[in-house]
Amino acid sequence: MPTIRQRIETIYDEVVSRNPGEVEFHQAVKEVIESLEPVVRKYPHYAEQKIIERICEPERQIIFRVPWHDDKGEVRINRGFRVGFNSALGPYKGGLRFHPSVLLGTIKFLAFEQTFKNALTGLPIGSGKGGSDFDPKGRSDAEMMRFCQSFMTELYRHIGEMTDVPAGDIGVGAREIGYLFGQYKRITNRYESGVLTGKSPSWGGALVRKESTGYGTVFFTEAMLKAKKMDLQGQTCVVSGSGNVAIYAIQQLQALGAKVVACSDSSGVIYHKSGIHLETVQRLKEVERKRIKEYASEHKDAEYLEGGNIWTIPCEVALPCATQNELNGDSARTLVANGCIAVAEGANMPTTPEGVQVFQKAGIAFGPGKAANAGGVATSALEMQQNASRDAWSFEHTEARLREIMGNIHTDCYRTAEEFGAPGNYVHGANIVSFRRVAEAMLAFGLI
Ligand code: GLU
Repeated sequence: MPTIRQRIETIYDEVVSRNPGEVEFHQAVKEVIESLEPVVRKYPHYAEQKIIERICEPERQIIFRVPWHDDKGEVRINRGFRVGFNSALGPYKGGLRFHPSVLLGTIKFLAFEQTFKNALTGLPIGSGKGGSDFDPKGRSDAEMMRFCQSFMTELYRHIGEMTDVPAGDIGVGAREIGYLFGQYKRITNRYESGVLTGKSPSWGGALVRKESTGYGTVFFTEAMLKAKKMDLQGQTCVVSGSGNVAIYAIQQLQALGAKVVACSDSSGVIYHKSGIHLETVQRLKEVERKRIKEYASEHKDAEYLEGGNIWTIPCEVALPCATQNELNGDSARTLVANGCIAVAEGANMPTTPEGVQVFQKAGIAFGPGKAANAGGVATSALEMQQNASRDAWSFEHTEARLREIMGNIHTDCYRTAEEFGAPGNYVHGANIVSFRRVAEAMLAFGLI
């Protein structure tokens, strides 16, 4: 009889051989199933029923051609994806990513992560993810519209408010959701508000959705610090990225009295020792869609570090809010050496496995993305609630719900880590709580 550890290793080896070359997917699976040994020991029927094997296999994967015309009238072809990973707890739910690096393996890793993240919210949402290798950089509004319309012309038949509910992610914001929703409405002859989230509040979107991932990450950080009898007041913070997640993380950090000294984009880093001026970042990124480099020409005491590593900037709190594997072992060691006390992932899997190990060995509070950035999808679920009841909640009410959900996620992860013999280990806590929720539903449904 193989030991539980051997069985888990075999499952991982099978995932690798059945999904060749999908390294990010392998990484995400490894991190989750490594946490599950004590759970399977306590509940052997999970192993007997092959729940781990089933959870690692997506329920469905759709790949399609997306043809469109650019502004010169030239024909362009991209690839579209939508993976429905797990629908035990609700309709597939997760964003769409438009980025040239997107491959099927990228979408699978994100959809897999989403399974656990969405379960952590405690709301009735399954998991999925989609997107395209389309590059929005430098594209006009008209090109964005034509691309989104073509993308939805295939996607519409696979989604629905009870089936699969996409939203935004990197490269997809309110403008793209608008074009996607418009095309869905035209093709289906239905004003089905709950089919997409991240809509504009003027036509069915939830207030706070735009802010929710960043705010939620900061609420989670606050909870981790509180567990250590500390708070954010006066702490120096570094936030990577300058997209939707980073901008609202910075806003909430500043509201709670922290000092944010750096942010970045894929070309370089802004280091502004006296504190980042958020209005400038917001205008450059949200309105003018420019590079972060421009910030330094407006603030003469700020430095722009082309191709720089943001994690070399000394800070107490680090929030990686850009993209996967942006914070490696060396960067983690630098952060620790510089006195960092807390790291929470606003992006999905931004820390490499070696980086996570460094933080855990150093006893730093480390909030994994599936817990720390669950505020975005949680608020999407609140948007679905409002759409289903044809209601629109106030900003204050929605923000209070978000705060409560993030507090519950923190408590669940914290207590579960303790219960399973790993106090302070939010990675184990998050993986175990969410795995159990999905597993229990799957068992209740018979063999699915
Ligand atoms: N893309 C976001 C995430 O990674 C949000 C997904 C959603 O709102 O459905 O969780």
